[in-house]
Amino acid sequence: MVMVVEVLAALLIVVVIVWFATRSKSEKKHSLEGSEQTNSPEHLAGSSLLEATMTGMREGLLVVNRDMRVVASNPAARKLFNPSVATLQSQRLTELTRNPAIYSAFLDGLKGLERSGVKVETHGPERQIFDLRVVPIGSANGNGAEGALGVFFDITRTERLEIVRQEFLSNVSHELRTPLTAIIAFVETLENGALEDQESCQRFLAIIRKNASRMHSLIDDILELTSIEGGNVQLRAGPVDLYTLVQDVCASAAAKAAAQNVTLKNNIEPDVMVYADERRLEQMLTNLIDNGIKFSREQGTVAISYESGTRDKILVQDNGDGIPSQHLERLFERFYRVDRARSRDMGGTGLGLAIVKHLALLHRGEVTVTSELGKGSTFTIHLPKPNSD
Ligand code: ADP
Repeated sequence: MVMVVEVLAALLIVVVIVWFATRSKSEKKHSLEGSEQTNSPEHLAGSSLLEATMTGMREGLLVVNRDMRVVASNPAARKLFNPSVATLQSQRLTELTRNPAIYSAFLDGLKGLERSGVKVETHGPERQIFDLRVVPIGSANGNGAEGALGVFFDITRTERLEIVRQEFLSNVSHELRTPLTAIIAFVETLENGALEDQESCQRFLAIIRKNASRMHSLIDDILELTSIEGGNVQLRAGPVDLYTLVQDVCASAAAKAAAQNVTLKNNIEPDVMVYADERRLEQMLTNLIDNGIKFSREQGTVAISYESGTRDKILVQDNGDGIPSQHLERLFERFYRVDRARSRDMGGTGLGLAIVKHLALLHRGEVTVTSELGKGSTFTIHLPKPNSD
């Protein structure tokens, strides 16, 4: 990433320097030779193209003179420093920003030094992060430079992705470490003599198996999520008989539901058709119904129903404990759990809802949740109708 920014910065700087050179030449020509020659089509085509490039680019450009006053800037720089003024022209850099990193980078530029990789953060309502590169322009007779040019690259999105990536890695390591620690501990206990005791031996092996399965599920879910997010999952969308699909999912979940004393209810009318990738819709429903069972109470019910509208809605409703409202917003984030220990205990990975969310997005739909404490939760998959944009 840093390499790409560097290369782009170098390219931009060349373009910008050419632009300023062309501009100052044209201004000189204009004053010396009159307007006829400066308005030649070739000249206009060249300078207006550069002008358009500078105006249209997302990167902010700022040129200061030896007095640290702005002598040129583009709209992106104005937006960055002071969107309310018409021009930054003639303003002192200190009037535009109090950020010492920016000031010292431009100061170095005026001393004839190049600075790159200067990280600049804005603290307005919309926090943005920039990578600033400053180069000197023109030589002031061995006494530094005549001016300094700064290019501000918006790296907000990349930085955010980097934070998400780091959080994900640390979560994965943490999630894997817990079952692994249990496995090692029980193997050691067996090695230290528990093997002799048939009953403990069976119990410890069962714990080892449970933790190994947890690691297996976790790795499966991580791979699944990564491939969906990475765009490696191709949907094969077509008409799906929803009633039959829900019957199948309920049949697969029947043993689990019975073990928890939970009743599954398919409330879909037999002729309802939706447009989706059948296997992926099955995966979404399995996850939601599975959660409904897990977080249901004894004698609870998980009901699946359908509502038509501008989009098709498939609702999975339970009458379990419900989810406190402060958790709802983050519920579909990877590894987010209301009660981490309870989720783990039930073999959860904390990735199920993130997978459902991404599969719904892949269908150009979404998944939403409403919940009331003590009454239960409803998860809704919204799917666009075929041929709707
Ligand atoms: P998990 O593997 O923990 O089930 P999910 O991503 O499927 O991971 O769900 C994340 C969290 O959302 C769960 O740990 C639980 O706290 C909460 N949750 C999901 N579904 C329900 C539900 N039907 N009722 C109550 N809480 C739920």
